[in-house]
Amino acid sequence: MLVVMQAHATEDQVRAVCRKIEKLGYRPHPMPGATRTAIGITGNQGEVEQGTLEEMPGVQEVIKVSKPYKLVSRDVKEDNTIIRFAGTQAQIGGRGLAIVAGPCAIENRDQAFAVAERVHRAGAQFFRGGAYKPRTSPYSFQGLGVEGLRIMAEIRRHFGMKIITEAIDNESLDLVEEWADVIQIGARNMQNFSLLKRAGRAKKPVLLKRGMSATLEEFLMAAEYILSEGNYNVALCERGVRTFADHTRNTLDLSLIPAVQRLSHLPILVDPSHGTGKRNKVTPLSRAAVAVGADGLLIEVHHQPDQALSDGMQSLFPDQFDDLMAQVRQIAAVLDRTVPEIGEREPVAVGT
Ligand code: PEP
Ligand code: MN
Repeated sequence: MLVVMQAHATEDQVRAVCRKIEKLGYRPHPMPGATRTAIGITGNQGEVEQGTLEEMPGVQEVIKVSKPYKLVSRDVKEDNTIIRFAGTQAQIGGRGLAIVAGPCAIENRDQAFAVAERVHRAGAQFFRGGAYKPRTSPYSFQGLGVEGLRIMAEIRRHFGMKIITEAIDNESLDLVEEWADVIQIGARNMQNFSLLKRAGRAKKPVLLKRGMSATLEEFLMAAEYILSEGNYNVALCERGVRTFADHTRNTLDLSLIPAVQRLSHLPILVDPSHGTGKRNKVTPLSRAAVAVGADGLLIEVHHQPDQALSDGMQSLFPDQFDDLMAQVRQIAAVLDRTVPEIGEREPVAVGT
């Protein structure tokens, strides 16, 4: 159910409706929009008795949301969600594209700084790197854990980039929430419902990657888990799905982008690195992702990809990342969107 408030409804009226919903035993989710506030209701098994809410001051109408996902739906919030970060211009959603770049895994301090220096100079506002790696083989490098988080916090201080890194279980989520700026939930955990609920209680934004065989509806339902716990700062990420095709690691499903944008207000990024698994396909698919309307890109970059401990085959050399940025900037301009400038940016020392 959804309570649509009148355009001129006061904050007190919104609060009163929220209190009423709580008294009825449900959970209110106020979603302020450009023209009006809507209040999503979750926790109800059946229909909510409409009359009592409809009669309250400031309420325009109470409507049934027929889709299985509610809070992620444009029915509840018409305007695009923009995730903002205090003290910087970096944002996810909105006109500017969010560029997330960095190695697959944080391997050591020198490696992380070498890559960070280059992606920062190329314009990336977000630095990525796994400290907890979900690997297919238990014998493969599993990540540096807290040490990796510490290195990334140092990178944030030094370059001012925001840090995005993956949590693979509740324990690592506690630590990622403490150290990073955005909590990544990976493809393998897209339907780890207890982890999604924990992410929904986190105080930091979440980047949710599409499961490798997830439908659009399953993907949106996974995001709904996070919003239903009260965390509305969620960005989605298409990273390719399993198909019969074997010329790439996964099949990047760019048709998902306009499909998501039609149904949901959440921003959606594209990860052509995992989506193709091949370095030579990352830049062409990045161009395509921007052309199709993605809200940003997630790109793996390594200064020595042939020595990378994970995903070297799909990691760009820093010079290639410079080229990618120059190319996508031109495509973004056609769509009246912007990509941060490549430049000799001075490292900045900022507080954490
Ligand atoms: C990653 O981004 O580091 C990653 C492991 O991606 P995915 O979960 O999409 O496989
Ligand atoms: Mn990777």
